[in-house]
Amino acid sequence: MKILNEDTHLNTFFKKLRRASNRALLLDYDGTLAPFRVERDEATLYPGVRELLSALIDAKQLRVVIISGRAIDDLVPLLRLKQLPEIWGSHGWERLLPDGRHVAPDLSEPIRRVLAQVPDWIEAEGLQPRYEPKPAGFALHWRGTNESIVREIREKALRKWSSLPEDSGLIAKEFDGGIELRAAGKDKGVAVRTIISEMSEGATMAYLGDDLTDEDAFRELKGKGLAVLVRPKFRSTAADLWLQPPDDLIEFLKNWITICRGN
Ligand SMILES: [Mg+2]
Repeated sequence: MKILNEDTHLNTFFKKLRRASNRALLLDYDGTLAPFRVERDEATLYPGVRELLSALIDAKQLRVVIISGRAIDDLVPLLRLKQLPEIWGSHGWERLLPDGRHVAPDLSEPIRRVLAQVPDWIEAEGLQPRYEPKPAGFALHWRGTNESIVREIREKALRKWSSLPEDSGLIAKEFDGGIELRAAGKDKGVAVRTIISEMSEGATMAYLGDDLTDEDAFRELKGKGLAVLVRPKFRSTAADLWLQPPDDLIEFLKNWITICRGN
């Protein structure tokens, strides 16, 4: 564990959390709560984390939210939780509320048209093994391959992206292990901004994430909550704190449980 921001004092944060009547714990999934796997459908929670998540979801005066780049349908079976928390999927394009209501992506007609053509392009380029269709775009994965395959996939994706009409409304974003083309206008930062706007004044919150796409969320939380980079290896980040999973992560979540149970 390492403090990255001289204004961050973890004891002060936990004291404030103890006093707060309104708390939110915002969590990325892949790389944060679950170690990476080349087979993406095998990326299950770190040992012990499911029990901690269940306890947090049961805690009173705490809003637990998972914010992932995955589609919600893809994520839910991996969690294997009896009671699901609130989930934002597809980088904030879709949302599952704790009462089971699902808010689907509201995509423009030009984006729908572009996405409808993607499967044919994937087939023509021989990218099926790398392809993950998503509700608001698609990802191409290169984790576990070599440099030349990474370069080839990146080039194909960027060529496709630059061939699209300017008003297509898709952005190209690299993440840890691939590249994604998705509808512009939402990201994890927008999701965090919306959640903050829904919380009452003086809410205490933290966001835990590992990837480049989590940096939008870290920046959004500046001065409003604790931004936490969860990653075995350090990298440059806007986060306030660095935790190495799973041990630091488990300790951090246990602190939240102790504090939330104290009320
Ligand atoms: Mg992640």
